[in-house]
Amino acid sequence: MESTEILQEIAAQVKICEKCQLSFSRKNAVPGTGPADTDVLLIGEGPGFYENEQGLPFVGSSGKFLDELLNKAGLDREKVFITNVVKCRPPGNRDPQPEELAACEDYLDRQIAAINPRVIVTLGRFSMAKFMSNVKISEIHGQPRWVKGRYIVPMYHPAAALHQPKLRSVVESDFAKLPEWLEKAKNAQPEEEVIPEETNDSSDSDDNAVQMSLF
Ligand code: SF4
Repeated sequence: MESTEILQEIAAQVKICEKCQLSFSRKNAVPGTGPADTDVLLIGEGPGFYENEQGLPFVGSSGKFLDELLNKAGLDREKVFITNVVKCRPPGNRDPQPEELAACEDYLDRQIAAINPRVIVTLGRFSMAKFMSNVKISEIHGQPRWVKGRYIVPMYHPAAALHQPKLRSVVESDFAKLPEWLEKAKNAQPEEEVIPEETNDSSDSDDNAVQMSLF
């Protein structure tokens, strides 16, 4: 089966999925959008209000900001694939629960396998945690590394900059380096996987505060 067909099949399954409790409160599941033959996959956290209304990813204010960031980096939304770690909106914009992340993970894994992107940009803590454990986003945002043959670029979620203006320049600065990283990833052989050192400080309170209101 072609990658496009696989993505269509996944999207059809997501739209009627009842594998976790988020199916009860969602209006529209949001499988993700973009071409199958892209080198770049962006993964956010979960649909927000407008995404739940429209069934599309990143269509609210954070989506507009993401478009700006992509455009400044010379990328077009139509040329990248955008999805989330959970495909249905957590009620009240709360964090996705571990059992919801686990239930939904297979869809994301199959999307990654179908697209086979060289570069994955993680937007926020939950998508970062899929590829890197025991790290704080405040310490590793904007520091890409190879993980299992893919160049993982951890970024703050665009909504973080909208909720905390002091992060706006940080997010803009990280995205500005994206073209350089894409070029590097395209030309490089995957380096050995880097296992981040464990941090003992798990508070990350600023990040938690930011990420609580991302949707
Ligand atoms: S969040 Fe994922 S696992 Fe849960 S109902 Fe939606 S598509 Fe299914």
